[in-house]
Amino acid sequence: MIAHPGSEVRVLIRSRPTANFAQELIEYLPDGQTVSVHQRKDSRKGVVNNQLSSWSFRLDGVLHDVSQEEVYGRVGRGVVLGALEGYNGTVMCFGQTGAGKTYTMTGATESYKQRGIIPRALQEVFREVEQRSDHAFSVHLSFLEIYNETLVDLLASVRGCPGVGPGGMAVVEEAGGGVSVRGLSLHPVHSEEAALNLLFEGEMNRIIGAHALNKHSSRSHCILTVHIESRSRTLSDAKYVTSKLNLVDLAGSERLGKTGSGGQVLKEAMYINKSLSFLEQAILALADRRRDHIPFRQTKLTHALKDSLGGNCNTVLVANIYGEASQIEETLSTLRFASRMKCVQMDPVVNEH
Ligand code: ADP
Repeated sequence: MIAHPGSEVRVLIRSRPTANFAQELIEYLPDGQTVSVHQRKDSRKGVVNNQLSSWSFRLDGVLHDVSQEEVYGRVGRGVVLGALEGYNGTVMCFGQTGAGKTYTMTGATESYKQRGIIPRALQEVFREVEQRSDHAFSVHLSFLEIYNETLVDLLASVRGCPGVGPGGMAVVEEAGGGVSVRGLSLHPVHSEEAALNLLFEGEMNRIIGAHALNKHSSRSHCILTVHIESRSRTLSDAKYVTSKLNLVDLAGSERLGKTGSGGQVLKEAMYINKSLSFLEQAILALADRRRDHIPFRQTKLTHALKDSLGGNCNTVLVANIYGEASQIEETLSTLRFASRMKCVQMDPVVNEH
């Protein structure tokens, strides 16, 4: 089923299965769309009080105790098929560190069954490209990391890569409303295997870079983009149709504790808070259709995703939650963000040229 541009952002909740999942505080309703969260009053002040405050969030679906295959089917497949038809698409994972964003996007590398959305999306793209013999496709990959508002090309180490060039990397606006990242390498790929090799190389570079800077990789946003171009072989005057499929692992959304954070940790948190807060503002402005006033350029993340959050784009957000009692504040904050994201309306357009 192809996702239909023009609909709202789809938002699903996925919870990480843990032995201490707080069933008494996080309740999934039988409709498969609603989660109720109960929080003990005064729990933050250390007062023992059995009264509960409760909140309900109705989203597009709950992924609790479901396989990676089902997650791909409900989250990724429609966006991937849409991208093959010429509609930009974005799948984003949002939530605190440890909630399962990377597991959802990339999966566990040691097990084929536990592959995440990205490897499954790459498989589907190449399967479709092979089957649709009436179209000529060309597929390129890029892999961008945004750390403290600095752009990093995670595939710069690939042999034959041209390098960043004198102007450095920057998000640039294109005629027609699109954006691209100057200096970001684009790699032609002809098979699922070649694409998976690039994914692996980029993931390795993310980890190596994190070690070099003494940071954890969860402090950066990562955008793997599949650039697809296609043209009908049967129509002599067929136009080229282009699209971008963005698969985004956002930095951990947790807030800093009140004490003890300084220096680099504080700086990282400030950059993350700023980009997530502008992501939300951009989404809210889109929901109001205040397109002229959308603050895309305020952060690298929103600017790089400018043509993927509005216009001709299918957007799906997975709100990952870590459902232990000690994390209930963060869970509430993730669900509030998720429910605000539900308001966005999109306009359908296919990119033809
Ligand atoms: P994040 O990227 O949000 O920081 P991770 O994806 O690294 O979190 O998940 C933290 C740990 O929990 C990892 O060991 C991961 O394999 C495990 N995990 C997360 N979600 C699931 C899930 N749905 N099923 C099984 N294991 C999971």
